[in-house]
Amino acid sequence: MSPRLREGCSVWVRLLDTLFPPQCAACGSIGSGFCDACAQAGPALVECRRDLVVRGLGEYRGGLRAAVLALKGGRRDVAAALGAHLARALRAGDAIVPVPTTPARRRIRGMDGVVAMGRAAAGESGACILEVLRQSARDAQRGRSRDARLRARGRFLCDDRFAGETLILLDDVCTTGATLVDCANLLRSRGAVVREAVVAAIAPNEHGP
Ligand SMILES: [Zn+2]
Repeated sequence: MSPRLREGCSVWVRLLDTLFPPQCAACGSIGSGFCDACAQAGPALVECRRDLVVRGLGEYRGGLRAAVLALKGGRRDVAAALGAHLARALRAGDAIVPVPTTPARRRIRGMDGVVAMGRAAAGESGACILEVLRQSARDAQRGRSRDARLRARGRFLCDDRFAGETLILLDDVCTTGATLVDCANLLRSRGAVVREAVVAAIAPNEHGP
């Protein structure tokens, strides 16, 4: 992007912030897409899904669920706020890989919420974001049964190779962990070391690991 175009974009973003200031998706307070009080309403979670350690801001319910749904709906202020909260789980120099949404959903929403959240998290923490995964143009995940999600394995693609680099996956919500495990295995097949994922919310895994 040219400096002039970038400057024009930042002016536009500031104007939008003035007209439509960030508003907490959970409590409605002005100033952040997901305010500190709501982000700290529940304890942070660390769970295992297969061979992945998954860290999340909390359980997928209440205010955090509202924030994740707003993110899926295309709210950029919520993406920025969730990214800033997730940055606390990252260190400078970490390499994070967002789990991409389908091209169809990206077109409908006008953004990829997980990528936007990841860019914000990287900007805040000094981590780098590697947008190396692609998803083929099949159905979106939401609303699918667990069996359908399991059948959808293999829908991610990666053209890059990694010489033993450690990568951290990033997603909005983790339930069974099937998507994260698929992505981890794909990145491992390309030479990466993947042990961890960072997500906004973790839903109870009622079906077992
Ligand atoms: Zn709030």
